[in-house]
Formats: sequence, structure tokens, C-alpha cells
Amino acid sequence: MASHEPPVSTDIHERPVDLLRELIRFETVNPPGDEKPCIDWIGDLFEAYGVEYDTYARDPDRPNLLARVPGGDAPPLLLYGHVDVVPVTDQEWTHDPFEGVLEDGYVWGRGALDMKSGVAMFLATALRVAAEDEQPAGDVLFLALSDEEGGGDDGAAFLVEEHPELFDDVEYALGEFGGFDMEIAGVESHPIQVNEKQVCWLEVTFRGQSGHASLPISGTAMGKMASFVRQVDGERLPVHVTPPAERMFESLADELPDAHGERLQALLDPERTDDVLDEMGADGAMFDALLHNTANVTRVRGGDKENVVPEEVTAFLDCRLVPGQEPDDVVRELEALTGMDLDVEVVRFDPGPPAADMGLFDELAGHLENATGGVAIPLLMPGGTDGRHLAKVDVQSYGYIPMQLGELPFLELVHSGDERIPAETVEWGAERVYEAVRAYDG
Ligand SMILES: [Zn+2]
Repeated sequence: MASHEPPVSTDIHERPVDLLRELIRFETVNPPGDEKPCIDWIGDLFEAYGVEYDTYARDPDRPNLLARVPGGDAPPLLLYGHVDVVPVTDQEWTHDPFEGVLEDGYVWGRGALDMKSGVAMFLATALRVAAEDEQPAGDVLFLALSDEEGGGDDGAAFLVEEHPELFDDVEYALGEFGGFDMEIAGVESHPIQVNEKQVCWLEVTFRGQSGHASLPISGTAMGKMASFVRQVDGERLPVHVTPPAERMFESLADELPDAHGERLQALLDPERTDDVLDEMGADGAMFDALLHNTANVTRVRGGDKENVVPEEVTAFLDCRLVPGQEPDDVVRELEALTGMDLDVEVVRFDPGPPAADMGLFDELAGHLENATGGVAIPLLMPGGTDGRHLAKVDVQSYGYIPMQLGELPFLELVHSGDERIPAETVEWGAERVYEAVRAYDG
């Protein structure tokens, strides 16, 4: 836990890099998170700028903070980010991951990319708008969340369940994941996340002949589970072409020379999807995930004695469903694949909207394209963010943490040792967010 008491000054909105370095110095490693000192500090900043805010907590050590910078009659624009970070255990670091070191042009530390830099950009923007005389078109809401890396039960999931009224008039939000430069299918692009796959956890229970392990026994629960796992392993479930995937692939295809563009288009033809993915090999893994429900067995449970054949064994499945699909759908697909009649309990399902509301996309894409000369692509995400929770209260999130990372591989550094970000791009990103907030008029 960081014990430092960083100064609170009313010009810090001009220094997003300093904001980031201060944020990194709070050791908000999740678990346990311990986000309170960091959230309190953000509260002090808003206080110093004369902005009203409230905190909401299920666990008092893990509050969430919502500040409101007043604006005109347009619907509010929400800027949100999580302040918790993943652990640094067993990782090599050049600099202490919680010192906020600025060296060689980089800010080093856990959260430099995911996502204290984004929080710093949003915070700098909210404070800057508050410090200026000109009112924004609508209120600017800033939301700092706990517990994203743990699933959001103390963060975004808690807020939308217990305080949905906070989001009553909010249509659009900026958050994770996107805005940085990334090569997708050979296209230099700035992805903006508009939708994500839905987390669906299943427990499948197998029952069979039990008895003393000294006797020959067949038709055991273990045997049935093993057969299930073997059949699911590496097999694709049926193809689903969804509107968000269609939009994403078509945007990419537009940027590619004929043959490559046609290959991406072919992915959208269910008759050809799997053949094209086979040709693409490892390069197609992300596209594969965006065009199918996936099911991976991540844990099994059963048996507690060496010499007893258990009657019951349970396999735990982490399934990710494409937008519009429900748990029943993937269960049906698994039954068809394995020919088994499955006894399934849905342990968790985070439903998301079947299609994205693209209302703010063109505007955001325009800002990024003007500033970079690149192309912005609407992104359907294989993984999950807090966006899925906010979707439950009809808030459309756009992944918009603008960064120019150049050679720095975002996906390799996130959650890894030596996570770092060019200091320059923190300033640049904050400027892009500010520009988007000022241009937004509902
Ligand atoms: Zn994150």
C-alpha cells in the first residue's frame, strides 16, 4: 500500500503525465484492490477544483467515485476507467512498478497502459473542463471504478445493480479498450471497441457408475467427462456472423488490397468461414473468436478418495458468446458437438447488447483519423471490459484511450513486466479526449 500523500494542486490538469505517475504510486493490486486511498485522492482533486462528487461502495475499502462537471442541456458524456491493476508477481521489472518512474521518455509501472494512463487522460480532461469558463454542451461525468480486473463485482457490476439511476440520462461513454495504434490483419489501425463477447460460465456435471476402485467399473463419471473434454478440445462450434463483427471486418477489408480484403469478406460467409480460418492459421485466432461461441474447460472437480470411483464429476467451462447468443444456445451447440445430453448449471452470464449503438462512432473516428492520418476501426472484443456492465443500463461504451505507441507492443506489455507508456502520448491522448469532449454536443 502506498503511504504517500501526493500534493493536490489546481493546475495538475495541465500535467497528465504527473497525474499518471501519482496514480501508479497507489498500489491498487487486485486482489485485494485496496483502491480507497487512490479514490480518496481523486476525490480531493475534484474537491480542489470545486467539482461535486460522490462515492459508492459495496466494500468500504473498494469505493467507486462519480464526479459531475456541470454543462448545458445535452445528455451527459461519461468518461470511465478502473484504478485497480493486476499483480506483478514473478515478473521482471527494470524499475519499481509502483514508483511512477519517468525515464527514457517513458512512464514505467503497473497500470501505465491498463489503464491508469486512460484514467489520467479522463481525469485531466474533466478537471480541465471544470477549470475553464466555457461550459460543455452537457454534463461531463467522470467515473473511477474499482475491481475491473476481478470481474467488477465491487465496481461496475455493483454500481449498475445498486445505483442504476446514476446512469439514467447517459447514452454514451468513453472507456476501454481502444484508441491506440495496432496492426489488425495488416491494417495500421486505431481500433475503437464498440461491443464485446459475453462471458458465460457453465458447470457441467457428469454422473456414472461408482464403486470400489479395486473392481473393474465402466461407464464412470470420469470416463464421461473425459470423453466430453476430448470432443470439445480444439473443435469449433457453429459460425455466427453478427452485426458488430460484420461492421468490423468490412471496415478492415476496405483498407486492404483486393486479395486480402476478399479473404476478410469471405470470413463473413458462413459457408466459407472455417475454411478461411484454417488457411489463416494462428493469424486468424482473433477472428475465429469473433465468429464463434467458444468453450474451454478450465477446471474439473470430482473424487476425494484414492480408492473410490466417484459418482459425480464436474467440469467448469469458460464460454464466450458472440453478441445476441444466450447460454441455451451454446449448451445446444455443445450437445450437438458431443452427442451428449448435458446437465448444465449457468454459473455466470453477463449479457450484452446484440448490436452496438454507433451514434458517436463516426465523430470519434474522425478525431482519431485527423490526428493520426490512420484509420479507425469499430472493434468487437473477444475479452471483457466494464463496458459489458454499463451496457445493462443502456450505456454504449466506446474504447477510446488514444495512444501512439509506435514500436511498443500494447498487447504484450499489458499485465506484463516493464509495462510502460511514452510520456508524450499521455499528453497527446489527453488532448484527444479533451477535443472529443468539447466537440460532443449530444
Ligand atoms: Zn483494463
